[in-house]
Amino acid sequence: MCIGKNYAKHAAEMHSAVPTEPVVFLKPATAIIGDGEHIILPSMSQQVHHEVELVAVLGRGGKNIPEREALSFVGAYGVGLDMTARDLQSKAKQQGHPWSVAKGFDTFAPLGTLVPADVVPDPQDLTLRLTVNGVVRQSASTSTMVFPLVTLIAYCSRIFTLDPGDMIFTGTPEGVGPVVEGDELVATATGLPSLHVSVTR
Ligand code: MG
Repeated sequence: MCIGKNYAKHAAEMHSAVPTEPVVFLKPATAIIGDGEHIILPSMSQQVHHEVELVAVLGRGGKNIPEREALSFVGAYGVGLDMTARDLQSKAKQQGHPWSVAKGFDTFAPLGTLVPADVVPDPQDLTLRLTVNGVVRQSASTSTMVFPLVTLIAYCSRIFTLDPGDMIFTGTPEGVGPVVEGDELVATATGLPSLHVSVTR
């Protein structure tokens, strides 16, 4: 599961309103790659953007999970990238179509090494950062999420029965932008192993 427009400044840079309830979309598990692997630019897109995000991995499943219990369902955290074919997404938005194509290409969900949830005392107090070729592109605190993780877990579990291993990409802060062949991306979040990926065709 991925959450759209979950940081107000990112919603603003997308010329979108801040949502009044979580914006949820799905990515296929086949989009996931690990640290040291390569993002492959799809020929169908001319504009692929990076979105650095905190990722929560569920340790146990559930349905209609209350917010007050939600963090106990998280088994691990990692830093991830919600790679996005922005040109295809813009076209889909204009046409009122789903985002699945823009978000779901192979390699479009890089995910760093996971750490057990108890290593992260407060998921709303992390600094997310992304550098491209050593230049900082995104840097923000997870405290500025529109909907905190507990709300996202509770909300998603009202829709989907959640399974252990399910992942929630919690949205990106401002500073999204294009990547090109040869770029080296490093994503970090406080206390989590950093994620290094490069971009290829
Ligand atoms: Mg995103």
